[in-house]
Amino acid sequence: MHFVFITGGVASSLGKGIASASLATLLKSRKFKVRIRKLDPYLNVDPGTMSPYQHGEVYVTDDGAETDLDLGHYERFTNQSAKQSDSVSSGKIYSNVLMKERKGDYLGSTIQVIPHVTNEIKSFIHSDLKNEDIAIYEIGGTVGDIESLPFLEAIRQIRNDKNISSALIHMTYIPYLSSAGELKTKPTQHSVKELLNAGIQPNIIMCRSEQPIDEDSISKISLFCNVKKESVIPALNAKSIYEVPSLYSKYGLDEALLKQLGYKPKNHKLNLKPWIDLQKKIKKRKHKVKIAVVGKYTNLKDSYKSLNEALVHGGIENSTDVNIQWINSEKENNNSLMKKLKDCNGILIPGGFGIRGINGKIHAIKYARENNIPFFGICLGMQLAVIEIAQNVLKIKNAHSSEFKKTTKSVVGLMTEWVNKNKIEKRDKNSDKGGTMRLGAYKAILKKNSKIFSIYKKGVISERHRHRYEVNQKFLSKFENKGYYFSGMSPDGLLPEVLESKKHKWFIGVQFHPELKSRPLDPHPLFVSFIKAAIND
Ligand code: GLN
Repeated sequence: MHFVFITGGVASSLGKGIASASLATLLKSRKFKVRIRKLDPYLNVDPGTMSPYQHGEVYVTDDGAETDLDLGHYERFTNQSAKQSDSVSSGKIYSNVLMKERKGDYLGSTIQVIPHVTNEIKSFIHSDLKNEDIAIYEIGGTVGDIESLPFLEAIRQIRNDKNISSALIHMTYIPYLSSAGELKTKPTQHSVKELLNAGIQPNIIMCRSEQPIDEDSISKISLFCNVKKESVIPALNAKSIYEVPSLYSKYGLDEALLKQLGYKPKNHKLNLKPWIDLQKKIKKRKHKVKIAVVGKYTNLKDSYKSLNEALVHGGIENSTDVNIQWINSEKENNNSLMKKLKDCNGILIPGGFGIRGINGKIHAIKYARENNIPFFGICLGMQLAVIEIAQNVLKIKNAHSSEFKKTTKSVVGLMTEWVNKNKIEKRDKNSDKGGTMRLGAYKAILKKNSKIFSIYKKGVISERHRHRYEVNQKFLSKFENKGYYFSGMSPDGLLPEVLESKKHKWFIGVQFHPELKSRPLDPHPLFVSFIKAAIND
């Protein structure tokens, strides 16, 4: 097995995650068995409690880990499900070390960054591997940050081990100075010096740049950074992120890496046909559709990364360019919100936590429901649709979610409010996922003759969850009397998973997060169907 480490220098936000995912895609397209993982230098133990405003979305894996959004890129590009053991933060590493110290595992020795923290990092790197040919590790942050030092030291030790084959790819930025009319390689040279200070010589340098990189600059980087010329890879902007694998391959990234690892690239033929076909489909899009996403974290688009991508995938499948109108429900009054919604062909309310901005979202749902505009509610979006219908159609006074209001009419609430304690305990034992949050993949049973069944074309689905509150089973018949059906339920029949309207053109709410499982090469059926309905709006 070979280890490939990817570090970043000069600036953050260079697209290291996309680069790592693209590299994994190229290697998979050459039939290698690949694993891709992330090491993050921040001290939070996991990203579950980090604000989406600061760190982008929390990506949830099948096995219920709340992880960094880069794992979403990995899954979308490799079409391979990530696991809990595919990401770790410094916080988690330190907390493991401190826990071991408390348990006396170190037999009273002095606990230090080297060797205790670095050993913990190395054991993560080696853990839970199977028969992969190549394991890729993206190191978050920028070389030179204090937090990344233990990671670099662990990598140095691994690269110093004669029995381990490894390569290190360093991604940097080459700025263009318009006054000088030149690309500047100095920041890259400094960033490589920073790596050398940590005892690490990179094998490949990927140069992010907004301008084509000339031969002179490549030669300079090769000379000053002590890297072969063919291993200095330009990494230019692409029109679509899904062009990146073929673009990087064109500049020789996968060949340079395979040579470094001792393979003959021509013996491992590259097949990028599905990706080239996808690019053709992207270029051929002939329709345009405008979808309103009414949420809260709309300032930072990364907060809804998977959702954004899933809508794009649904669009590509319908030859449609999806224009997303991000609407911050907190900042709008009902009039300005209506104005914005009026020229949209579909309305989507994504997942979210907390009371801020919910009234605007409920208003948007009412508008979609009354005007037969395609509506898609995800997690919180479904819960708010239940509240809206309960208040305005079923006329249940004070109907709300106990997350937001103390009420005897909690149409959405904690399961403990209406399900017998013993039943819940049995449930938690069976699922082995106690705790308060329903996290990770759960099955749902879809009713035949429902819209959702016709979309999935099957009766049993598995989707990922991340929520605490559930739709209250006690009110279901009241909804059904008015034409709102819970057409998907948990296998034990206790929890509503899907809400749909029989009268409406496309009105679906789901308790899970389908966006987490949409892939460019395998778009999620719910998004494909939603966009299709919006085109015909
Ligand atoms: N806040 C809601 C809950 O915890 C919805 C969560 C979500 O949308 N992911 O149930």
